[in-house]
Amino acid sequence: MAFHEYPVTQDYRISRRVLGVGINGKVVECENRVTSEKYALKVLRDTEKARREVELHVMASGHPHIVSIHDVYKNSYNGVDCLLVVMENMKGGELFARIQERGQKAFTEREAAGIVNEICSAVAHLHRMSIAHRDLKPENLLYCTTSGTAALKLTDFGFAKKTDESEPQGLKTACFTPYYCAPEVLGTEKYDKSCDLWSIGVIMYILLCGYPPFYSQHGQPMSPGMKAKIKSGQYTFPSPEWDCVSEAAKDLIRKLLRTEPTERITIEQTMEHKWISHYRKVPDTPLFTSSNLCDQKEQWTDMQDEMEATLASMRVGPENIQIKSLGDSNNKLLAKRRKGGASPRADEAMD
Ligand code: ADP
Repeated sequence: MAFHEYPVTQDYRISRRVLGVGINGKVVECENRVTSEKYALKVLRDTEKARREVELHVMASGHPHIVSIHDVYKNSYNGVDCLLVVMENMKGGELFARIQERGQKAFTEREAAGIVNEICSAVAHLHRMSIAHRDLKPENLLYCTTSGTAALKLTDFGFAKKTDESEPQGLKTACFTPYYCAPEVLGTEKYDKSCDLWSIGVIMYILLCGYPPFYSQHGQPMSPGMKAKIKSGQYTFPSPEWDCVSEAAKDLIRKLLRTEPTERITIEQTMEHKWISHYRKVPDTPLFTSSNLCDQKEQWTDMQDEMEATLASMRVGPENIQIKSLGDSNNKLLAKRRKGGASPRADEAMD
């Protein structure tokens, strides 16, 4: 998609209505001057990072579960180059806001499976195109309309990455490994994609009970203990919320929340899991989700911050890690490995 160089205001009337605020700026409503159709407009400063975001989002656009891009403009305001992205207007709001607002009518396990299936189909589309989203979290899942049958779509490609582009050559070792696994053990492509699978696991867990799997008790910020829990994969399926949840759902969560990215299942394997492939046959058991989401409203922003912090740590992928070649390393474990020993674990490689 070529970027238009003439002013966006020639084609769209920009409204003052703010649809949302993100880390990169505002998303406002706009209206096509010819059709009067409403759209969402995201304004980004024209940087290399913003270009990557827009290019990957355009590439992924057109899938039924990905927010579509209609037009992109490159305009300059007071000498500052900006990219203006005209997207479909997602009037239905965020995923969990909708579940929370359901009131008396209980949300069921079958509905949760339907939602996870929608998210998986978006991620499968991306992974097939060698794109890792890397910022898959509840705020980036929006409903088209307020109707009960509205589609759920994924947006915000601000951290998306093409996973098949060339990486630094040669056998390198990380001086610092943020999460789970040394990147030299795992190809960067699998590492980047595995982050999206972890996110699906967390979102699926919240959908089934209304609270996250890893949560520092009652609104405290991410503590070292919390990080340790995530790192060692410590979570439980507490009673009463999980008592009636199917074994198939728990089995899939265990496979998605594996701490070692190499052991975590891929999106294809997730789609083949019976809880997803037969999502219409999942038991229609009422869940505690809506009432727990309502009770824990105040903790929601803390939960979002925690998920964001974890995703940020996971994104510190191989290319962002200060690397040194094996030849320069005086790490004892690596020395052993060079002599043919076993691969060091991530935490050992950090020594
Ligand atoms: P950032 O990359 O700055 O985090 P996002 O793309 O996530 O920005 O957008 C910020 C917020 O704006 C979202 O959380 C959402 O509430 C709202 N928003 C984003 N895109 C749309 C859209 N297409 N339609 C309606 N609201 C949107």
